[in-house]
Amino acid sequence: MARSYPIDTVRNIGIMAHIDAGKTTTTERILFYTGITYKMGEVDEGTAVMDWMAQEQERGITITSAATTCTWNSHRINIIDTPGHVDFTAEVERSLRVLDGGVVILCGVGGVEPQSETVWRQADRYRVPRIVLINKMDRVGADPERATEQIRTKLGARPLPVQIPLGREENFRGVIDLVERKEFDWGTDLIGSDFAVREVGPELKDQTEAQRNALIETLCDTDDTMMELYLNGAEMTPEVVKQAIRRSTIGLRAVPVLYGASFRNKGVHPLLNAIVDYLPSPVDIPPVIGTHPRTGEVKSRRPADEDAFSALVFKVMNDPYVGTLAFFRVYSGKAHIGSVLYNSAKDEDEKISRLLEMHSNKRREIREVHAGDIAALGSMKNLGTGDTLCDKHQPIVLESIKFPEPVINVTVEPKTKVEHVKLAAALAKLAKEDPTVKVMKDPATGQTLVYGMGELHLEIIMDRMFREYGVRANIGKPQVAYKETITGRADGEGKYIRQAGGRGQYGHCVVTVEPLKRGVGFEFAEKIRSGVIPKEFVPSIRDGARESMEAGMLAGFPLTDIRVTLIDGSFHEVDSTPIAFKIAGSLAFKEAARKAGLALLEPIMRLEVITPDEYLGDIVGDVTARRGKIDGMEVRARTRVVRALVPLAEMFGYATILRTLSQGRGVFTMEFETYEVAPPQKAEEVVARIEGRAPMSRT
Ligand code: GDP
Repeated sequence: MARSYPIDTVRNIGIMAHIDAGKTTTTERILFYTGITYKMGEVDEGTAVMDWMAQEQERGITITSAATTCTWNSHRINIIDTPGHVDFTAEVERSLRVLDGGVVILCGVGGVEPQSETVWRQADRYRVPRIVLINKMDRVGADPERATEQIRTKLGARPLPVQIPLGREENFRGVIDLVERKEFDWGTDLIGSDFAVREVGPELKDQTEAQRNALIETLCDTDDTMMELYLNGAEMTPEVVKQAIRRSTIGLRAVPVLYGASFRNKGVHPLLNAIVDYLPSPVDIPPVIGTHPRTGEVKSRRPADEDAFSALVFKVMNDPYVGTLAFFRVYSGKAHIGSVLYNSAKDEDEKISRLLEMHSNKRREIREVHAGDIAALGSMKNLGTGDTLCDKHQPIVLESIKFPEPVINVTVEPKTKVEHVKLAAALAKLAKEDPTVKVMKDPATGQTLVYGMGELHLEIIMDRMFREYGVRANIGKPQVAYKETITGRADGEGKYIRQAGGRGQYGHCVVTVEPLKRGVGFEFAEKIRSGVIPKEFVPSIRDGARESMEAGMLAGFPLTDIRVTLIDGSFHEVDSTPIAFKIAGSLAFKEAARKAGLALLEPIMRLEVITPDEYLGDIVGDVTARRGKIDGMEVRARTRVVRALVPLAEMFGYATILRTLSQGRGVFTMEFETYEVAPPQKAEEVVARIEGRAPMSRT
């Protein structure tokens, strides 16, 4: 079972961009030129290849993280789709986990926009080598120098222009490749279907040499080998320069910059060459790290077929044609149809019975996968996002994928009894596909609550529930997912003693509660003298406290960021039972929490608004009126950027509000930052509203 393509010819990449920069168009052109699609669709007509889910086409945004395989110059490029909307940050994060390199698309007119910065910071966090395509060079106002410079000033990276754009706006016709000293010329036709590659014309020779020398000089800074070669007077052949660019890119010391107009089909071929030449293959990145599922010992796996199998499932999704598919990235080893792999996260075997390679919206059955590959598994048993598949005899758990907390929810009420079953099934599937969707029952009202990352995210989930699963249900208004916490430290005692003939019940404990840092959740410790309470009852006390925390005390929202320490208690030789200690634990926790003082926690979002100067005052005033704290302001060309922290509760419908305030010219992004104690007046309002809605148990 030798592999048919060497591992160093594989490129696993993501295309990242601010919405509207041209990611869909560029991806589609890539698929077209690599020979997968035979008919060119235009995003504007809603037929782009990547946008194959029904509502993706309608909204013109790419939501899912499907992987697509294509080939260029004997290299295999797997494109892992990353969405641009900030509501789907989780999707971006999971793609970043499994890709080795990225293409960041900037708009030649807008340059580095707030969302480009968000995406860039995420890619920084995962140390993903990148190249930049400055797109829309044909548009009025295209300013490649400014966009390139912003890579330095706004993103803090070192831009490495490897091309010179030929013309701009309606005269944009192609690029000069500084490495090869060649012109790629598509002419000024609207649709550059054909292009010429030729020597640089005499009028541009000097400029080309000057910029090529500048490129080499920068490379001497970013690459020691290049510096040595240069000092030794080595000839700066295209190959030498290319390798230096490649090393600098993979070492995250520089970012090659290219220019194009994907919509006009100009610049896509050189982009494909750059993906192959400059972005890493699976052997260029460090070995993957994980732990042994039982011993916790740290293990690493080399990107080689000879090493034991390891793979990470990064996306489980429902495919309309083949059912549930688990997309995975193979880090080491190989597997084939019939192999039995081990799901180390769930301690289960998983037989490989169906393997697929995705070519945009087509699927190809394959028989084997190798280190570095990205493929999909069909007919699988119980795989979830973040699970590790490995060799059972050499097990490893790769670090799972972290997702931010869903901070907004809607109630969903089926229209009829029959719909109940359908609803539950649909939500279970949707939550499995998207780990940032959570489904819960409201403990007070019994209603089904669906949690998501933002208004748009929930809208899309509900939309899919109606369309794909045909569920008929009433959807409530989006609401904030509040939490509760304690504000001080206190002790509480809980006794559950029943003695009515025969065997009774006896549980007794004293606990201390104290606040923890935001985001920590729950911790339990015990500090009792030995013999006070037998060891086997301690977990019951913990479970009792935990259950009370989940039920909430102020208004039925879960309590969080609390440490519970068991400090004292007593037991009875005959009557003590786990259940008695569980009840005692719950009573002790509630008493302690009440004494410690309760507070409502609300989600605080990081808001970034970009607006023309003239609307700045109104926008800042409005953010402040929404209890927002301005955190920074910046001038960017003729626009202003406002950064603020604002409570989510005040931000519903902000898209419409901003449109009104800025005559449609402002844009914003919003991301969950942290939970914070809500001001008393706000807390009272929320509690009163909840109490009005349903009786709360306030034991
Ligand atoms: P995405 O949101 O990043 O996926 O962006 P799309 O690919 O959907 O493109 C957004 C809009 O910009 C669409 O109307 C495209 O037709 C247009 N567009 C994309 N690339 C170019 C380009 O190179 N030049 C011009 N003028 N428009 C482009």
